[in-house]
Amino acid sequence: MMNEMYRQLGVSQAVYEFGESILGGLTERFREIDAVAEYNQCKVLAAMQKNRVNATHFAATTGYGYDDEGRDNLERVYADCFHTEAALVRPQITCGTHALTVALSANLRPGDELLSPVGRPYDTLEEVIGIRPSPCSLAEYGVSYREVELLPDGTFDYEGIHRAITEKTRLITIQRSKGYATRPTFSVEQIGELIAFCKKCKPDVLCMVDNCYGEFVEMREPSDLGADMIVGSLIKNPGGGLAPIGGYICGTRECVDRCAYRLSAPGLGQEVGANLGLMPAFYQGLFLSPTVVASAVKSAVFAAACYEKLGFRVVPGSGESRHDIIQAVELGSKEAMVAFCKGIQSAAAVDSYVTPEPWAMPGYESEVIMAAGAFVQGSSIELSADGPIRPPYAVYFQGGLTWFHGKLGILLSMQKLADTGIIKL
Ligand SMILES: *Cc1c(COP(=O)(O)O)cnc(C)c1O
Repeated sequence: MMNEMYRQLGVSQAVYEFGESILGGLTERFREIDAVAEYNQCKVLAAMQKNRVNATHFAATTGYGYDDEGRDNLERVYADCFHTEAALVRPQITCGTHALTVALSANLRPGDELLSPVGRPYDTLEEVIGIRPSPCSLAEYGVSYREVELLPDGTFDYEGIHRAITEKTRLITIQRSKGYATRPTFSVEQIGELIAFCKKCKPDVLCMVDNCYGEFVEMREPSDLGADMIVGSLIKNPGGGLAPIGGYICGTRECVDRCAYRLSAPGLGQEVGANLGLMPAFYQGLFLSPTVVASAVKSAVFAAACYEKLGFRVVPGSGESRHDIIQAVELGSKEAMVAFCKGIQSAAAVDSYVTPEPWAMPGYESEVIMAAGAFVQGSSIELSADGPIRPPYAVYFQGGLTWFHGKLGILLSMQKLADTGIIKL
């Protein structure tokens, strides 16, 4: 019955059987992923119980949003969940890039220097910082920038970092996830060591972690190991697939206060910002997030194991530990990227019939191809694949609100590659 169902969805017997043979070797791995989800589910529940979440917190507010108890309590829940003094969790934060922009511009003043000790940050941050000149960049406001490349083996260049931290250095930005690079994603432990090193070099330096795609993949978060701020998007992990918009910044009271003044206005800060009826989605999304993230991690591990077996370079490897939900597969050609993305698209519940094509996306330097049939547009905790059309022609695969949907997507991606003759099964 099962093969027949997959056949109806477009998966051939050969692809189905290949997938099952790979899955046979992943039982122990999946057990470990479930254990992390169980721990994080308890962590979220504890934060909700401590803050006595109840139905009144789900009420919609409009206008200024003064005394919005649902919003304020959600921020206490986030702060307790991520073990920080304060949190800013808002639908007015439109995306991850916006959350990072708020965190950076709120905590850097003219004359300060920003340092990335982990090499070039995510594409969209280049314009925020002013690496690529852009109106309203930090550079335009007198904030200078420096970066230290990773060593060839992907580890931190501690000597170079030590040299780069000067009396101007005010904020250190550390991106947890690889983003559109083929470097490894850092573990929370590695990030903790880097933060400790930077604080030893300069005790009053602020350390911010771009936590996009990392939330709930491990039992700890960078905020457990000294980060002054962790920042992310609600249409990625912590929104659990239900949040239709939003971003968060969790951190010290001082940093988060400044972020709130930057997001709204000096003097207003966290007091304003109506929730527009989004509280049920934000609370329930956070509640679901640990198991949704586990589904995404299982899908990523399955993709790695399949494509590794087919002879492609995958980052991380199927046996490596995971610190985010992203799986890079180096496909080696534009045609293979398009076929892969067509497979992911055709597995979707929404827009399964459309064909993804490469296009010039705002904020990105190269053409980008994206496969995303999502309930929330652009949501990448939902099953999706994307990548810039440039060597090594890597697709970045992520998400899957349920593991079985992720599985279908990967099977269909292999099907499309087989149909175009790029792989043989
Ligand atoms: C997605 C992402 C961002 C930007 O988030 P958007 O919501 O796309 O603006 C920043 N950094 C990393 C590492 C990301 O994965």
